[in-house]
Amino acid sequence: MSEQESSLYEEALKPLKKAAAVLNLEPDIIEALSSPERILIVSIPIKMDDGKIRVFTGYRVQHNTARGPAKGGIRYHPGVCLDEVKSLAFWMSVKNGVVGVPYGGGKGGITCDPKEMSQGELERLTRGYAAAIAKFVGPDQDVPAPDVGTNAQIMGWFADEYYKIAGKYVPGVITAKPLGIGGSRGRGTATGRGAFFATLEAAKTFKIPLKGTRVSIQGYGNVARPIAKYLYELGCKIVAVSDSVGGAYNPEGMHPIKLADFKTKTRSVKGFPGSKEINTIDPITVDCDVLIPAALENQITEKNANDVKAKLIVEEANGPTTPEADKILYEKDVVIVPDVLANAGGVTVSYFEWVQNRMGYYWSDEEVDEKLKQVMTKAFKDVYQTAKQHQIETSFTMQPLQMDMRTAAYVTAVKKIVDAMQALGRV
Ligand code: NAD
Repeated sequence: MSEQESSLYEEALKPLKKAAAVLNLEPDIIEALSSPERILIVSIPIKMDDGKIRVFTGYRVQHNTARGPAKGGIRYHPGVCLDEVKSLAFWMSVKNGVVGVPYGGGKGGITCDPKEMSQGELERLTRGYAAAIAKFVGPDQDVPAPDVGTNAQIMGWFADEYYKIAGKYVPGVITAKPLGIGGSRGRGTATGRGAFFATLEAAKTFKIPLKGTRVSIQGYGNVARPIAKYLYELGCKIVAVSDSVGGAYNPEGMHPIKLADFKTKTRSVKGFPGSKEINTIDPITVDCDVLIPAALENQITEKNANDVKAKLIVEEANGPTTPEADKILYEKDVVIVPDVLANAGGVTVSYFEWVQNRMGYYWSDEEVDEKLKQVMTKAFKDVYQTAKQHQIETSFTMQPLQMDMRTAAYVTAVKKIVDAMQALGRV
């Protein structure tokens, strides 16, 4: 493992350490929380379309299962490595604690470039991965879902392979499946919808007007597109977007659906009619009021945090802000709705799907939306209350910070996880 790989997990643990200090946790408990329960590394040999065999590496990390089965997505991306999957699994434990769904945290991934693979190759890879980890997943053990580079079809292939091995139909083994095989209504847009509800609460709480507000979004995939649409419908202007190829900027605003259609046709938002070309990283620092990182980790760093113009950051991506950038932004009075809260709508509707699968009874769009709104609104209020209750001191400043939504979210979640570990007699 390279130095760079080992540092992401170390960085990911920093907010845990701050929360642990607030909660007065003993070092042995912090160590237990910092150590994933199970790490699987599998080799998946696949026959490619040209007849050659390629061996892919897959991971599944179950970080903590004190509050329930492990739960978290599967990422297909060239940058997937053990350290990234460990970090993502850890964030899932925290996220599931923040919103209070009865799950622990897990995450998986395969180091591959899905954009370079045919549908047949992706299906064989997914089936190979499912077979390799089948013994360790299941509705009561570990329940995967999509993440970067994966989608409902991939969930369907995974489910089918698992059913063959289990010898029965167990739709609760994986979530965000297509509707016809037990998927939940509202799952496709759930992360964006949940982030939208969190944005509404943040705007109300911190008195940030949303009408006419300029929004900048980095990444324009599964989670970015829905929130762009909801905010546009509310009267916000989408002034900047980017993806892995490039970006588009227009201070007059861009239509979110036309942007999505343009990206579908050309594979990028770059070159969107009427816009100025910008780089993939530029949405972080363009002139805007609300910034939504919705791509990958470590995008807001000590190098660009000082140039952030937004007053509100809603983290749809996991881990987009480094701890050093967090400090700079806090001192600039920027409000951050942290990832473990802002993007929890996805896992919340995944939980609804799992509940519906176990009941064999399915809810309407309206029911799902109402329940999601309740969960996200309550989670935001719980975190805000925690932030108000605790005078949170940080290692980077001698000033007591009165409001740090990330630490508050970690305090909220870690308390629940530790309570569960203690009730089980694990610590
Ligand atoms: P996706 O693959 O659908 O979209 C990712 C987007 O980011 C794409 O538009 C891609 O081009 C862009 N991107 C990649 N690298 C980039 C770069 N360097 N600069 C700018 N853009 C870049 O993935 P997604 O499901 O939308 O996930 C995005 C983020 O949201 C990830 O951090 C993921 O972990 C997180 N997340 C996803 C879900 C979910 O339900 N899918 C839930 C919670 C959190």
